[in-house]
Amino acid sequence: MSYANLIAGQWVPNERFSVNANPSDPSDIVGEYAQADVAQLDAAVAAAQAAFPAWSTGGIQARADALDRIGMEIHARRDELGALLAREEGKTRPEAIGEVTRAGYLFRFFAGECVRLSGETLPSVRPGVGVEITREPIGVVGLVTPWNFPIAIPAWKIAPALAFGNCVVFKPADLVPGSAWALAEIIHRSGIPAGVFNLVMGRGSVIGDRLVTHPGIAAVSFTGSVEVGRRIAVQCAEHGKKVQLEMGGKNPQVVLDDADLQQAVELCVQSAFFSTGQRCTASSRLIVTEGIHDRFIAAMAARMASLKVGDALTAGTDIGPASSRSQMEQDLKYIDIARSEGGRLVAGGQRIACHTGSGKEGYFVEPTLFADTLPAMRINREEVFGPVASIIRVRDYDEALAVANDTEFGLSSGIATTSLKYATHFKRHSQAGMVMVNLPTAGVDYHVPFGGRKGSSYGPREQGRYAQEFFTIVKTAYTQA
Ligand code: NAP
Ligand code: MG
Repeated sequence: MSYANLIAGQWVPNERFSVNANPSDPSDIVGEYAQADVAQLDAAVAAAQAAFPAWSTGGIQARADALDRIGMEIHARRDELGALLAREEGKTRPEAIGEVTRAGYLFRFFAGECVRLSGETLPSVRPGVGVEITREPIGVVGLVTPWNFPIAIPAWKIAPALAFGNCVVFKPADLVPGSAWALAEIIHRSGIPAGVFNLVMGRGSVIGDRLVTHPGIAAVSFTGSVEVGRRIAVQCAEHGKKVQLEMGGKNPQVVLDDADLQQAVELCVQSAFFSTGQRCTASSRLIVTEGIHDRFIAAMAARMASLKVGDALTAGTDIGPASSRSQMEQDLKYIDIARSEGGRLVAGGQRIACHTGSGKEGYFVEPTLFADTLPAMRINREEVFGPVASIIRVRDYDEALAVANDTEFGLSSGIATTSLKYATHFKRHSQAGMVMVNLPTAGVDYHVPFGGRKGSSYGPREQGRYAQEFFTIVKTAYTQA
């Protein structure tokens, strides 16, 4: 089946298309998705510009109602949409249904935010004058998203953009356009006027670049790699656009001697390997103090032996495939790098060629753990984005904190400890945007801010009440009575 782009309220096909394949079984084709060309991208921006005056000044109740309808439909169809997501991206069906559920809550949360946007009034320093501070929509926003959360990341950008009165041109990842298209179709039927929301699928290097530099786009919100994000920041600065970037991570998970061993193992396995390690918040550096180090490794190896790697749609699968051949190759390359740097392989380390036994050549990689690694090794400095983690042995809490912060990234971090003193100190001194105590580094709520520090993020936070920082612009008005 073929799927078209949504431009000015019309489904617009193109002869060029991307083939969306299932990474558990690449012979299973999810669909063909039209690649927008530059002229179609320009038409989408023009449609959004034309729709902006009415949408940005229209009633907030209409916006709230539309977002609520979108959220409710996503929830009603969570099983079907979850199956589509698992099929195109490779996270397991329960993980995918969880992601879809989160997307629904994001729309329902921002439906409420439509009617909660507030300002301030202050007396002026000049007698008889009043000052009002209000928040207004920015204009047409360009949204660019990665392949690892094909519905949740689009939702956490589209919902606040629309809630605060902006119009949207949305470019999803070319690898996984299926969930994005399904979301666009739901938005299209929600009662939102033509042109307010536009979907343009296709390659980042073609239409993504044009979207970022288009004079009609006032702001760009991007999630993806550091390399592309930095380039977009420069382009936005050149064109005077507001920009928000969420990028990579190399998230540390500290395990102290006083940790509950089973709890520590469970949260490390969850953060490092679930969703095939393809989460920006995954933890790939396990920093373990020497008193618990050997017991921790033995318990990790035992727990990892029970993980079932396989088809994302099969019940009982713990870990699905890498999302693409190139991501699988990157995972295997880093496994080789860790070996050649002197890492000691504790578990995993191989591709699983035909795991299902049915001849399928899915992109399966064993969950892989290295011990005896040092902070300076590439395996501890570069994002793998696969089910690969490495252990760094440290003396004590102070060294653990220093090693945890010794990274150019700063998205999330975690500590496993029963000590209030160390937990409190870590929350204050960890150089990350999100800090977890006795919880996995991945897995966050939908109603609070999300984002990082250092090389991981740039610009205002996403999600929760804090999303208004990016998706609105402040006006200060003075009135003489
Ligand atoms: P990516 O290669 O940077 O791609 C992200 C998006 O940017 C895609 O839609 C891509 O299009 C587009 N793009 C590529 N080149 C572009 C250009 N020149 N101009 C405009 N857009 C362009 O990232 P990815 O491989 O999809 O995703 C993996 C990365 O995302 C990892 O580094 C991960 O850590 C990060 N991530 C971060 C967060 C966070 O919140 N911090 C969350 C999830 C993922 P194509 O589809 O054509 O490539
Ligand atoms: Mg990519």
